[in-house]
Amino acid sequence: MEPNDRLTQLRDYEPLIGAEATERIYRKAEKLRDFHVAHINSTYYGGGVASLLSSVTLLMNSVGIKAGWRVIQGSPDFFSITKKMHNALQGGTINLSERKKQLYEDIVYENVVRTHLDHDMVIVHDPQPLPMVRHYQKRGPWVWRCHVDLSRPEASLWRYFSDYVERYDAVILSIEDYKQDLRTPQLFFMPAIDPFTIKNRDFSDREVDERLAHYDIPTDLPLVVQVSRFDRWKDPQGVIEAFKQAQEEVDATLVLLGNVATDDPEGTEVYESLLGCRSERIIILSREDTALVNALQRRAAVVLQKSLREGFGLTVAEAMWKGTPVIGGNVGGIRHQIADGVNGFLVSSVEEAAQRIVQLVTDEELRRRMGAKARESVKERFLLSRLLEQYLDLMTSFETVYCLHPERMG
Ligand code: UDP
Repeated sequence: MEPNDRLTQLRDYEPLIGAEATERIYRKAEKLRDFHVAHINSTYYGGGVASLLSSVTLLMNSVGIKAGWRVIQGSPDFFSITKKMHNALQGGTINLSERKKQLYEDIVYENVVRTHLDHDMVIVHDPQPLPMVRHYQKRGPWVWRCHVDLSRPEASLWRYFSDYVERYDAVILSIEDYKQDLRTPQLFFMPAIDPFTIKNRDFSDREVDERLAHYDIPTDLPLVVQVSRFDRWKDPQGVIEAFKQAQEEVDATLVLLGNVATDDPEGTEVYESLLGCRSERIIILSREDTALVNALQRRAAVVLQKSLREGFGLTVAEAMWKGTPVIGGNVGGIRHQIADGVNGFLVSSVEEAAQRIVQLVTDEELRRRMGAKARESVKERFLLSRLLEQYLDLMTSFETVYCLHPERMG
């Protein structure tokens, strides 16, 4: 294949992570040249998993790993059930009927029939394709990568899932707090961002102005922004209430930007439930425009991610990378991304969120200080080169085990 110099290479990370780290990762990748890996998930856009896969599969290929990405298909019924499962994994309730299980398993099986896998490693993301593992003669390790907040999964669902999960050779969760009682080894990889995409690359003031003007977003007052799928766990209603309380003390404009993932059928309903709250200073947009995400996260005086559950908030890392202080819900992965009072704020209520909005909007020096620390912490901990290296280490560890003990393959 002809190299394409417009695609990001690991080398591009060198100014950010240093020559030593870059060379170390290249050396690890060299030993795995042509290692064949398939990633499987259930949507090609919308949401953090698609965003991560889009970048990490290209970066893997750039260092010689043959990484592919398959997306399973399903009917609206299927995605309605898997969204209920997703909600229950994050602590919601579910009526796990036989009918739901049957439909879920049947659609997964249809995908198995049309997905031929003889890779050195298969990495299955999230619950939608989870049962696929049951139907293959493994040629290499299978890894289940669960991105959701597993602090308190609903018990009946977790029992049902455990049967599948234990057929995997390893499970990757975002943080140790999500560890489950399983026979399968559990590893912890925090997600990471690609600083070279349109969503995260440097934008000039002119580019930001142009994007905001395109959507008639006023810039006369400070911007308070949340960028998130329209999902109840992201608490958009709580953001609006917090903003209204803050408005009693400061003048600002709130922008809620969201999109709808193909595997999330609740998005439209949540979006429509918010429309009555729109006003001259409360802008609610449903658009698929990553340059707009960049412009908003960059220009905002403060970004919110007031989630009630969050496996890990890519949006938090994206805004912090742009030097913007983030007010995050004190839950899940966000607690490991924001050091409260140092590079952002963690909040547990609408009132706290409102106070922090007021504090940040009125204190430019605090914004600057926190924003600088936020960017530094993303540079140290949340760039994709770190995640690539963790995957390479995982591949190497399995290479060793399976070469020495091929009988361990299921
Ligand atoms: N996103 C986007 N446009 C939107 C809303 C979200 O591009 O209108 C992106 C966002 O920038 C981030 C991803 O979708 O990269 C969401 O990932 P996150 O981990 O924050 O949440 P998830 O949707 O996976 O729960």
